Amino acid sequence: MNLCKEFHNEIKGLNAEGILKWALTRFGERVVLGTSFGAEDQVLTDLWARTGAQGHIFTLDTGRFFQETYDVMDATMKRYELRMEVYTPGAGDLARLVESNGPNLFYESMEKRKACCAVRKTIPLRRALSGRDAWVTGLRREQSITRTQTQAIEWDELHGIYKISPLHDWTEEQVWTYIRTRNVPYNALHDKGFPSIGCAPCTRAVASGEDARAGRWWWEQPEHRECGLHSGRPRQS
Ligand code: SF4
Repeated sequence: MNLCKEFHNEIKGLNAEGILKWALTRFGERVVLGTSFGAEDQVLTDLWARTGAQGHIFTLDTGRFFQETYDVMDATMKRYELRMEVYTPGAGDLARLVESNGPNLFYESMEKRKACCAVRKTIPLRRALSGRDAWVTGLRREQSITRTQTQAIEWDELHGIYKISPLHDWTEEQVWTYIRTRNVPYNALHDKGFPSIGCAPCTRAVASGEDARAGRWWWEQPEHRECGLHSGRPRQS
């Protein structure tokens, strides 16, 4: 049942940490934090650890990460000693995808790019969210034109689950102030012009003044630059 209106009243006026604590109280072990080790996810992981959360953190290891992403994943696991679930693409699905289309299919068409995102991300995400009531994400409104409507809590119709974004109204400056103040581990690529980091073949550095997600699938139109993880047309009520 969609209780977003009721939940919005409950979290009114809470800051990010307060929203996380509320989520942990409300959903217990049935809330999960999804991370791809970007700056926002690192803030949430630090907050998650500070709350003493018992819920799980999961990541979708697509097999095409940058080495720097594996480095920050390793540093994060060691620092926080949290339970980390790692979801990988199904071996059969991945073999069929590459055998039929080659390893660089994502550059050939949007359909092939989405097929790759499906095998490496969205199908594993369904496994990660199975049996959960809510998932926490690092979405922020100012990240891109596809995220300007992000709310603190939404009903994710695609996955039949609540999606909670405690940093929805944070600025980039707030994220980095938090990271520096708390000495949170972060992806070294952020210092090399990568504000948003996904798979290596589909991410490039951006120029000063460019949209934070301009380096993701840069060969496609901006309104298409999502991988399907957050395309479930979430509703507030
Ligand atoms: S971001 Fe690129 S490599 Fe990663 S799953 Fe999507 S298309 Fe495949």
